[in-house]
Amino acid sequence: MSPNAIEAGWWRVERSGDSSAARCGLCRHECLIRTGGGGRCGVRFFAQSEGFSSPYLGRFISAAIDPIEKKPLHHWRPGTRIMSLGGVGCNMVCPFCQNHHISHPARMPSPDELSEITPEALVRLTVDAGLSSVAYTYNEPTMQVEYILAASPVLEENGIASVLVTNGMFSEALCGEMSGAISAANVDVKTFDPETYRALGGKLEAVKSNVERLATGGVHVELTNLIVPGVSDSMEDFVRLVEWIEGISREIPLHISRYFPSFRCNAPPTDVALMRKFSAHASAHLKHVHLGNV
Ligand code: SF4
Repeated sequence: MSPNAIEAGWWRVERSGDSSAARCGLCRHECLIRTGGGGRCGVRFFAQSEGFSSPYLGRFISAAIDPIEKKPLHHWRPGTRIMSLGGVGCNMVCPFCQNHHISHPARMPSPDELSEITPEALVRLTVDAGLSSVAYTYNEPTMQVEYILAASPVLEENGIASVLVTNGMFSEALCGEMSGAISAANVDVKTFDPETYRALGGKLEAVKSNVERLATGGVHVELTNLIVPGVSDSMEDFVRLVEWIEGISREIPLHISRYFPSFRCNAPPTDVALMRKFSAHASAHLKHVHLGNV
């Protein structure tokens, strides 16, 4: 299958004629895209003549083999390595993004500058490397969701599992489809304050409902919470986050991750003593708590 054969989905025409526009339903932003324009993520477009398109589908800017713990997933196939692919674009705008060079590059590369990897080629790459899992990671992977859903059965036929490292902002309908296509996910829950979430270009309630659905739908779910000074370092919010996780399952692993200055954020790195305080609180309620980047 050629990646070019994968059509962009999750959209509908909302207005036709001179002021034609399409509504994208892939993520919770539900962008209304006028003809000639693009969505907030920078990788999905609408033109009256060509319809809706996502020219980056099946095109990747990075491919690497990582330890599974780097995703981070500590309780799914521990000790293994995973084929890791990243594309471009993101539907959130976190000013501290560690991967801003691909999520929000100063100049968006043209699709031709990225490498096409068909699902069949991905199987060969993975099998040749002696691996049995693929992670869509580095940028927000749901920017590639049509590819992921098309590749998943091809990978599965060859004994290869699919993994998502995501901000969890996808639509409810997509969450249902995703549950059947992936084996494991790490979802980055940025904060438990809805206003801060909004400022980062996300929606707390959307992320919460997707996590709940994935976790109760047979997907192995681990969560990451990056502690950014002045953004997501409130103990009150953290206590509510832990309470929510405990309400789903005490078995869900939580990764408390240390921030370092990046992109548009130059606050000092997270105080490790504060992270240990958070970890001590979480460990009293959850079975698996890990500190990351310390
Ligand atoms: S994926 Fe999200 S941000 Fe991108 S066009 Fe669709 S609704 Fe907008």
